[in-house]
Amino acid sequence: MPKVRTNRTQYPDGWELIEPTLRELDAKMKEAETDPHDGKRKCETLWPIFKVSHQRSRYIFDLHYKKNEISKELFEFCLDQGYGDKNLIAKWKKPGYERLCCLRCMQTRDHNFGTTCVCRVPQNLKDEQAVECVHCGCKGCASGD
Ligand SMILES: [Zn+2]
Ligand SMILES: [Zn+2]
Repeated sequence: MPKVRTNRTQYPDGWELIEPTLRELDAKMKEAETDPHDGKRKCETLWPIFKVSHQRSRYIFDLHYKKNEISKELFEFCLDQGYGDKNLIAKWKKPGYERLCCLRCMQTRDHNFGTTCVCRVPQNLKDEQAVECVHCGCKGCASGD
């Protein structure tokens, strides 16, 4: 039986396996974007958006690179469709950046003293106190944590 295509986009094989999760994350993203901001610090309103977009990139990254469950074709299709952050995923392939939360946190010019974000400091070098970076609310994404 031929598959019914609802539009002109050619979906690579395997798309139907990941579509439900991607749709779910899409819904979460909309929720995050329309969430009322009462009582939150301005920077905090962006955190859920970063979180979902990170989750989405991580989902397709893991499926392709860790679990080998989706083809390169499908993986790249997802990126082309905006289901993952190409630049962030490129960083995850580099040693030391496997868990990077967002691109901003590794940019030294955005931080005091020309260092990277506090969330990039390995847990064992930090004070006991929990930290959260102001960009995306990350609580630590150094590779050793
Ligand atoms: Zn981080
Ligand atoms: Zn971050």
